[in-house]
Amino acid sequence: MKRIAIDIDGVLADYNHAMWRLLQACGADMRPFEGPDPDCWFWYEKYGATAEQVKEALGRQTPEWWGHLDPHKELTLEALRGLAELCRLHEVTFVTSRPCGRDAAWYWLDWNLNYNDRLNGPGPHVLVTPRKKHDALYAMDIDALVEDNLDTVLALRGMYEYRMPVTVVVDRAYNRGGAGFDCGHRSPNTLCAINYLLRTL
Ligand SMILES: [Mg+2]
Repeated sequence: MKRIAIDIDGVLADYNHAMWRLLQACGADMRPFEGPDPDCWFWYEKYGATAEQVKEALGRQTPEWWGHLDPHKELTLEALRGLAELCRLHEVTFVTSRPCGRDAAWYWLDWNLNYNDRLNGPGPHVLVTPRKKHDALYAMDIDALVEDNLDTVLALRGMYEYRMPVTVVVDRAYNRGGAGFDCGHRSPNTLCAINYLLRTL
């Protein structure tokens, strides 16, 4: 049984479209994403928001808002089945940098993964790390990580001298190119990331 950390936002939950709508609700004249995702990590102003509107939107990210994010469109029934299998075989912790405490993440996982029915556990392990996620993951001594944030993957890998955890980056338009593009294993989507771990761990 391996210890696996799976990022929630951007991997399982669709943060970006919810934030896009929130910016529009704050009065921003938003330009649609060209593809399924924005093409850079700091996209708010590039797609039409002012700094003031970004500030207002960030202030409106309540626990309820976080708890009601849509599942990412890649969270298909097949991906859910794979995730259930991963949770059956291994110790999975769902990780988030949400600034609002654990309840919103629990609610989200319960609602979207139907945790008790599908994953057959007493409840999801949730780790909320608004800052320095890599430090927390290092302290957990994880065997594997699924992430969409290259900075987290790079920082975590930089902490190891010898035994390195398996790091899987889920491919998104906003994490292509730049530093660390080729670090770890890059999976084309969430299902492939889950299947990769099922195959290799
Ligand atoms: Mg993320």
